Amino acid sequence: MTVRTRIAPSPTGDPHVGTAYVALFNYCFAKKNGGQFLLRIEDTDQTRSTRESEAAILRSLRWLGLSWDEGPDVGGPHASYRQSERTAIYKEHCERLIEAGHAFRCFCTAERLAELRKVQLANSPITGYDGLCRGLSPAEAQKKIDAGQPFVVRMNVPREGVCVIPDLLRGPIEIDWRNVDMQVLLKSDGMPTYHLANVVDDHLMRITHVLRGEEWISSAPKHLLLYRYFGWEAPQLCHLPLLRNPDKSKLSKRKNPTSILYYERMGFLPEALLNYLGRMAWSMPDNAEKFTLDQMIEHFDLQRISLGGPVFDVEKLSWLNGRWIREDLTPDQFADRVAQWALNREFLMPVVPLVQGRIERLSDLGPLTGHFFAGVPNPPPPADFDGKKLAGDDVRKVLMWGLWHADALKAWKADLLSEALRTSADKLGYKLRDFLRPFFMAIAGTPVATPLFETMEILGRDISRARLRKALESLGGVSQKQEKEWRPEFEAAFRASAAEALEITE
Ligand code: GLU
Repeated sequence: MTVRTRIAPSPTGDPHVGTAYVALFNYCFAKKNGGQFLLRIEDTDQTRSTRESEAAILRSLRWLGLSWDEGPDVGGPHASYRQSERTAIYKEHCERLIEAGHAFRCFCTAERLAELRKVQLANSPITGYDGLCRGLSPAEAQKKIDAGQPFVVRMNVPREGVCVIPDLLRGPIEIDWRNVDMQVLLKSDGMPTYHLANVVDDHLMRITHVLRGEEWISSAPKHLLLYRYFGWEAPQLCHLPLLRNPDKSKLSKRKNPTSILYYERMGFLPEALLNYLGRMAWSMPDNAEKFTLDQMIEHFDLQRISLGGPVFDVEKLSWLNGRWIREDLTPDQFADRVAQWALNREFLMPVVPLVQGRIERLSDLGPLTGHFFAGVPNPPPPADFDGKKLAGDDVRKVLMWGLWHADALKAWKADLLSEALRTSADKLGYKLRDFLRPFFMAIAGTPVATPLFETMEILGRDISRARLRKALESLGGVSQKQEKEWRPEFEAAFRASAAEALEITE
């Protein structure tokens, strides 16, 4: 049997370090065993998936030095590797389940489901679909279809007994079936849910081992049941421990930058970041702190994974990165790396229109553009943030609004930033100029600099967010109480984007 593993990202945001961590482990496991590693795009959530996100994920993983034997950009015998292009396959498989009595059409309305949930929440610890439509005869179901009633397809799930999940790291995990919902497999628009598409594809793509984050353990019973319903052998499951913030909470962008793009723009070397991710939950037999991808593959062994929550600590990563820079690059290579990082045409071209019209000598560029090359430096002294119209608490409030926009904006583009910040100024009753001053201070370190919105776009969401946060901290921070006080006004001003913010998951 050839070992085949995969990474199956959903392209719904910036490329996440957690995706790189899971990809790395799948890659090493496949290569160690002479197998293959695939990349599949899980874009069945059409409202949140974007091609930009997909492209950024592929580019970031390649930047890190990972490659795949099959995938949307390289093709392969099981193409397409993009789920949105495989909907006919899922539909057909869903039909098979209905015919065999393993799944059923459910015509319940959103109102009924909401009411059901309300009653359940009041009466028992268990929520979930009550199986009403499971009792419909084929003729009754057909009548509703003919009448044009919308429906989803749900899977049958036993109400009694225990599901035992064999996990390569954790041994058997037991979950009571009554805690497993009758999962929707096909949505009313005909698109599959993650569960159906994931199982069908892992089978058709001959995946032998699924290494994925522990947040998917609760999905495993549904998946194992689907394999059984289809009469297929399930791949071996291995749930990796989640990355954590230094305070042990789940790694989140509100506490730590999580986008690979941030680490690239900060000037981390890809081999150092990959090395650091390899040290998350795993260790070399000699406990070496610094190792290459090839060395990791050579020694890779699932049994060396430890389940204690691995802490992703940017300070430690910086230390390791420093070692890579000092110990492993010749002066020539160092110069090449700096050029690849930012001293190149691709990075400079968007900066040119912001500066060309403002300088007399090329040497004016240094002071005018330093903030593009500066990572997250210490902000200016707090008193410098105060302007004529906005000072003290108000400065902190507008910066907080900026941070909320950094969470909520769908895309990090100058025109969207302009709209969001202009509207904010308006809602808070400030002239734009006064309102933007703290942003200039936080982002560029001076009240007069390159145009703000374009500058923030070039720096990227995560660097901008990190600078806003650092500025706020230097001004004394914002207590939870104060955040709670300020938030309703922001939400009233940006109802739509605030709702989106909740949707942008980590
Ligand atoms: N699309 C899922 C994700 O975004 C894949 C989970 C899995 O590996 O099964 O992580």
